[in-house]
Amino acid sequence: MLSGKILITGSNRGLGLEFVNQLAKCNNSPEMIIATCRKPEEAMDLQTLANTHKNIHVTKLDVANEASYGSFVDHVKDLVGSTGINLLVNNAGYAPKSTRINMVKWEQMQETLLINTIAPLMITKALLPLLTAAASKSCIDGFSVNKAAVINMSSVLGSISANAQGGLYPYRASKAALNAITKSLSLDLQHQYILVASIHPGWVQTDMGGKNAPLTPQESISEIVKTLSKFNEEHNGGFYQYDGKQIQW
Ligand code: NDP
Repeated sequence: MLSGKILITGSNRGLGLEFVNQLAKCNNSPEMIIATCRKPEEAMDLQTLANTHKNIHVTKLDVANEASYGSFVDHVKDLVGSTGINLLVNNAGYAPKSTRINMVKWEQMQETLLINTIAPLMITKALLPLLTAAASKSCIDGFSVNKAAVINMSSVLGSISANAQGGLYPYRASKAALNAITKSLSLDLQHQYILVASIHPGWVQTDMGGKNAPLTPQESISEIVKTLSKFNEEHNGGFYQYDGKQIQW
């Protein structure tokens, strides 16, 4: 199970909402869940959950709005105090439609790379002092998501070796680049014992995944929680699917 202080982006629907839901309802619910979303006032399902689980703090964050990061980080610091953040889940993501070679647009590339690639890196950078604080104050030895970790929600569609169908230029490129960021972060942060990994949640029934996906958000997230809680030094800098199986870059 996951413990400590956990921050999840894009928590108002889909996988982010289910992640918050399962963490809140489990037997040993983490000390604090900072559930961020673009429009807290419209996030009814998340607000309902937060009303009955006092460890959930719904917090406004548009990951694409860098100008808001300063006040966001100050607010998170006030919430978590000197013990920092144990786990950052960069979950917010975007997948534009109609992106085959004759359709793809400049703006789709820009927006997708901004949300799926640039934002997770810059949010991690902004929250790094809080992750470092958590790592230095934890009594857990070695690498653990319960000590200090960044988990990037990637996709098998970002695997260059698994690409057999082409197309999906913005999304594939954004997740491949996110995986490159995962690798560099894992090397840069290893001396501070901050674990960094990419996760593919499977093909899941959400607004993004659609109704034909084989997995429900409940199935995907319950496997992800089990997988993350087993992560150690071996997993640092790796790319794994929801059930723990390693994926080739
Ligand atoms: P959904 O489309 O259901 O939800 C996307 C979430 O990201 C929403 O909460 C959305 O908020 C949020 N978001 C988008 N843009 C921003 C932004 N600028 N700032 C803050 N939040 C934003 O997607 P999923 O839940 O399915 O996907 C979650 C993650 O899993 C994504 O990173 C996705 O790429 C990845 N993934 C999903 C798969 C699937 O099959 N579902 C497969 C592989 C990977 P809002 O409501 O405000 O738009």
